[in-house]
Amino acid sequence: MILHNLFGRHIPDHQRNRWEGGYFVTQCTLCGQAMIKLPGLPWRLRPSSA
Ligand SMILES: [Zn+2]
Repeated sequence: MILHNLFGRHIPDHQRNRWEGGYFVTQCTLCGQAMIKLPGLPWRLRPSSA
């Protein structure tokens, strides 16, 4: 898990992929963290929200 975070290769779970509020939302298949994708941009972890 620590190495996974270091290398930052989060794998989006396309089975959970959904459209929500103007961007795609899913979660990493490896660590379960939320991921988002704007059209034309790569997947990235969703910024932590308050
Ligand atoms: Zn991950």
